[in-house]
Amino acid sequence: MNAPQCPSCKAPLAKMPQRKTKCKACGEFIFIKDTPRNRTKRLMTPTQAEAAERAWEDHQAKKMQREAAALYKQHLSRLTADLKKYASQGWRSVQVFGESARTCPVCRSLMGRVLPVTIPAEEILRPDCQSLDEGSYHCAPLASPAIKDGSGSVRFDRSI
Ligand SMILES: [Zn+2]
Ligand SMILES: [Zn+2]
Repeated sequence: MNAPQCPSCKAPLAKMPQRKTKCKACGEFIFIKDTPRNRTKRLMTPTQAEAAERAWEDHQAKKMQREAAALYKQHLSRLTADLKKYASQGWRSVQVFGESARTCPVCRSLMGRVLPVTIPAEEILRPDCQSLDEGSYHCAPLASPAIKDGSGSVRFDRSI
C-alpha cells in the first residue's frame, strides 16, 4: 500500500488514520469509509465521505425494495390460491382483513371491504401498495369468506 496521504491536500500522513481525524496540513477532516461497490475502507475527503454515505443509503433502500417486491410476489400467489379455493368452495364474496399499525394508506382503504371472490388478487394486494417502496410500511392484506359487520356478527355469502 502507498504511504497514506491526506485525500484533500495530498500531504503525507505519519501513519494510516484508524478513525476520522483532522489533517494537520490543511485542517480538513479525513474520513475512513467504504462504499457498496468497493468494500475496502479508504481515506476520503468530507465530500467523498458524504457521497459514500448517500451510496450506502441508496444501497439499503434498493435492497429493501427488492425484499418487499419478493414478499409481495409471495403474498400475491398465496392470495390468488386462496381466492381460487374459496370460489371453488362456492363462496361468492370475501372480506379484506389484516390491518396493522404499519399498513399503508392504500391497503388501509381496502380493509373491511367486501369484494367478489372472482376479483383479481391484485385488487386486494395492490401493486401501488406503499410498502413496496417504503420500509416503514408492512402490508399483507388477506381475504376471508367470513364477512364481519360492525357489530361483530359474521355472515357468509355462499352460492352452493
Ligand atoms: Zn490535508
Ligand atoms: Zn400497502
